[in-house]
Amino acid sequence: MTHEPILPGAWLGLLGGGQLGRMFAQAAATLGYRVCVLEKDPHAPAAAVSEMHLCAAYTDRSALEKLGEKCLSVTTEFENVPADSLEILAKMTKVSPAAKSVSITQDRLDEKSFLSSIGAPVAPHCLIASAQDIENVDENLFPGILKTARLGYDGKGQIRVKNKAELTEAFNTLGRVKCVLEKMLPLWREVSVISARNAMGEATTFPVSENEHRDGILAVSIMPARISQEQADKARSIAKHIVNSLDYVGVLCVEFFILENGEIIVNELAPRPHNSGHATIEGCISSQYDQQVRAMTNMPLGDTTQIQYTVMLNILGNLWFKPDGNKFEPDWDKVLAFPHAKLHLYGKLDARKGRKMGHITCVGSTPEEAMKCALQVCDAIG
Ligand code: ADP
Ligand code: MG
Repeated sequence: MTHEPILPGAWLGLLGGGQLGRMFAQAAATLGYRVCVLEKDPHAPAAAVSEMHLCAAYTDRSALEKLGEKCLSVTTEFENVPADSLEILAKMTKVSPAAKSVSITQDRLDEKSFLSSIGAPVAPHCLIASAQDIENVDENLFPGILKTARLGYDGKGQIRVKNKAELTEAFNTLGRVKCVLEKMLPLWREVSVISARNAMGEATTFPVSENEHRDGILAVSIMPARISQEQADKARSIAKHIVNSLDYVGVLCVEFFILENGEIIVNELAPRPHNSGHATIEGCISSQYDQQVRAMTNMPLGDTTQIQYTVMLNILGNLWFKPDGNKFEPDWDKVLAFPHAKLHLYGKLDARKGRKMGHITCVGSTPEEAMKCALQVCDAIG
């Protein structure tokens, strides 16, 4: 199969209109491509910066056909794309990542089976889909976390359990859908590696990002992660092995746990750019979004070398709320007062608690400088 490069000027399609899509569209436009978004929200962050917006559901056949006819290559910005939609598109145009790769990452059990099959380390776990599964559960998995196999994100769809009685209750609370019970592991750090691969088989990884969550949502990412060189090399090599084994085309994020004993475990995969990779925009020669554009157009991948230290702060809708519950617009001039802080706002109209509204990347020529800036920005905006 030949992989003709798709040159700037061509139309690229995007399924999904969130902030990851917005930054993809900005990178594509910078490279001279024209972007068409399929997304039903008329005010979607990606639609606001794209040349064309098909305002329809992801399952709308005529919209999918329009997208397929217009675009030489189509990509996605979220993992729960209906498989049928990808199939319709794949008959008309190039689609990356492929439906096959996306479907593995849509199910935590399929994902763990795949990872184990290629020798990537995962947490001890088992399927919980019936009362019988609970009856047969291995006591060694307690204390554990019960997670729905599908559709969980930002800590949603998971409950911590200490014994069989709690497991039964949690399974009922989650609606008795297919779940996975994972052993609670003693985490030292959570890190992630973003990898990109093109159809010619070229694969790259970004420096490891260290991630701190608050209430299940990513709060801060520090790049590079404060881990040993050996751990960083190992995480990057596992990520590369994963994209190669999937014959993956596009950008994929691998979330890892580093345990207290130094062991590295793969937590989960995301078949798209990732929140923990926003800082590649300022921090690296090429960003994760540049790589997404390059991969889907059969171009050589960009250099992922980090050129400045970064600390990324997520901005959630909570910032719009005063302690008394009243809403106000945050003082962005307080952020812009810091010359090393790069403010990204996603243009979402309605600030809600827990909603990702933007992020700030603090840069520095040393890790300390980037961290100092981040702490000052945090102080300034509360
Ligand atoms: P989500 O899809 O919501 O991001 P994750 O599987 O990544 O779900 O879990 C969310 C968070 O819960 C993780 O970032 C980690 O902090 C914690 N967690 C998940 N699984 C485990 C585990 N097996 N042991 C310890 N902590 C865990
Ligand atoms: Mg996660």
